[in-house]
Amino acid sequence: TPGGVARISEEKILVTIRVRPLSPKEQAAYDLVAWDFPDEQSIISKKLIHERHAGPYSFDYVFDPTCSTSKVYEQGAKDVALSALNGINATIFAYGQTSSGKTFTMRGITESAVNDIYEHIKFTTDRDFVLKFSAIEIYNETVVDLLNRESGSLRLLDDPEKGIIVEKLAEEIVKDGQHLRTLIGTCEAQRQMGETALNDKSSRSHQIIKLTIESSIRENSGRVKSFLAALNLVDLAGSERALQTSADGTRLKEGSHINRSLLTLTTVIRKLSGGKSGHIPYRDSKLTRILQPSLGGNSRTAIVCTMSPALSHVEQSRNTLCFATSAK
Ligand code: ADP
Ligand code: MG
Repeated sequence: TPGGVARISEEKILVTIRVRPLSPKEQAAYDLVAWDFPDEQSIISKKLIHERHAGPYSFDYVFDPTCSTSKVYEQGAKDVALSALNGINATIFAYGQTSSGKTFTMRGITESAVNDIYEHIKFTTDRDFVLKFSAIEIYNETVVDLLNRESGSLRLLDDPEKGIIVEKLAEEIVKDGQHLRTLIGTCEAQRQMGETALNDKSSRSHQIIKLTIESSIRENSGRVKSFLAALNLVDLAGSERALQTSADGTRLKEGSHINRSLLTLTTVIRKLSGGKSGHIPYRDSKLTRILQPSLGGNSRTAIVCTMSPALSHVEQSRNTLCFATSAK
């Protein structure tokens, strides 16, 4: 509804935490779960851990290790994803250290979102929808087309009308849900191939699946109303690649492993959620330049922060909770 649109665009970023179960490897090493879940909005260090920065930390939702991905989708992504059907740009991120469950979670969210979008299209008989699909990977500030790796490193161009565009990026018109799933599968395979060629790549690269949704409706007055928006599904590089800050917020040394796009994204999100007008450094990285139209202005954002439950990862998990707190 038009009334809903105005309200939604003013909403803050939806921030949730998802803690995966202990992995078989963590179990074999007798690692322990370091966190308690007092209620569905909070997470707190277990008593055995030192008392500083124990929490509780509160968010829109905290998914404990028993939560299914469909629950994560329902509570943490669905409303944002579906707003793209009504002309509001939407972005869903998975943020967290390597092996915390980002890819696992984004796959599930993407699958549920695709099903829901096609379900809505089926029941919205007064509108014709056109969906377009594209997908990129950003690695070392190099943008690569996941549908067409052969085109090599892609340039970003400032188009006076369209804003930032990725030059020569392949865009497929999506025929139906099955076609969309096939396209997503192709990109997964591409990403995995890159993975074998370069060990540890997924911890350093960002993947963005972009679905452009266009539709129009003839109102009673005879006027045609059009909707156009993008849904971005973003699997980020491992958060250990962001500038390392200790739990009390002091900066540690900046290493060569720092990922410019991830660092800039965290700054942009902090500034956006802080609600202050000042300069937002979108132009400092490829990721934030590409996502700018879907982060500021008429847009909605959901961030699912993923964590290992393990005691051995407690410092990285705290960093994740600190970032999540700053994004609220
Ligand atoms: P990341 O993308 O953050 O590096 P992955 O998504 O690859 O992490 O997850 C690491 C491992 O943990 C994978 O084997 C994945 O299947 C498993 N995993 C992640 N989240 C869950 C979960 N919620 N439940 C069960 N297994 C999970
Ligand atoms: Mg991954």
